[in-house]
Amino acid sequence: MAERISETLQKKLSDRLGFYADLGIQLFYRDRGTFAAADSERPLEPPANATFSTPDLQKEETLVKLPAKPVLQKTAPVVTTASPKLASLPVIAGPSLFEAVDRIADDTLLKIREDLGECTRCKLHRARNKIVFGDGNPKAELVFVGEGPGADEDAQGLPFVGRAGKLLTQMIEAMGLQRKDVYICNVVKCRPPENRQPEEDEVSTCSPFLFRQIDTIAPKVIVCLGAVAAKTLLQTNRGISQFRGEWLEFRGRKLLATYHPAYLLRNPPAKSEVWKDLQKVMAVLGLEVKKGKSVS
Ligand code: URA
Repeated sequence: MAERISETLQKKLSDRLGFYADLGIQLFYRDRGTFAAADSERPLEPPANATFSTPDLQKEETLVKLPAKPVLQKTAPVVTTASPKLASLPVIAGPSLFEAVDRIADDTLLKIREDLGECTRCKLHRARNKIVFGDGNPKAELVFVGEGPGADEDAQGLPFVGRAGKLLTQMIEAMGLQRKDVYICNVVKCRPPENRQPEEDEVSTCSPFLFRQIDTIAPKVIVCLGAVAAKTLLQTNRGISQFRGEWLEFRGRKLLATYHPAYLLRNPPAKSEVWKDLQKVMAVLGLEVKKGKSVS
């Protein structure tokens, strides 16, 4: 009989499995430690009457396939059948899923930055000057997520420091905050050439780092600046105008999408809509709405 695990560990495991799913990892083998213990009582070679002829590690019964959004069972995950071939694989030293859960619990922005390294995971690295990881308060209650660095950001290694960035700074200050109070980052950390939108493969490669940043900062509110950020966090293809200014959720946190400051530079009348959205955010954060303040 499988042993029950505590609610806290269930939650940690669930978060961890979600994190793996974000990285595109859907398949899990049974925990190595469990494997090793069980294997000590099992012959390493398949029994003589085994019916398979070739190793077939992709067969359904040898692997556990997680659903798209992993749901944690009440009991610890256990692989139902291990093929004799699988059992004969060497036991590799490394962290079990349970140990990995503890690691994610003390993830920090520094570790995430170290894991990102001098990234070459997607083609955006070829033309970039500096990686733009993110900037601001690592314990911020409010996180702004943009699309990707532009030329100024690429040169300085800091998010939102160009014209759109100046407008974002004004927006933050109109809320009664300073840039150092909030955290600002982007979906992709390297500048797309000619400031084009990041492509699907670039977003899927880079966004797990953004998800980790958000999990680690654990803000009260996430504000998505523009469609790319909103679509990435909400996993939707709906146009931003269909849900702009509405309270939505990202992994249990409040999320609101609004127009990108670069769009506001081209369409100044939309600033009043954005200011209404930011006032909703201020209400949730308990910030006073001062008369006469706005995004101008
Ligand atoms: N636009 C973005 O989306 N991000 C930046 O950092 C700068 C401009």
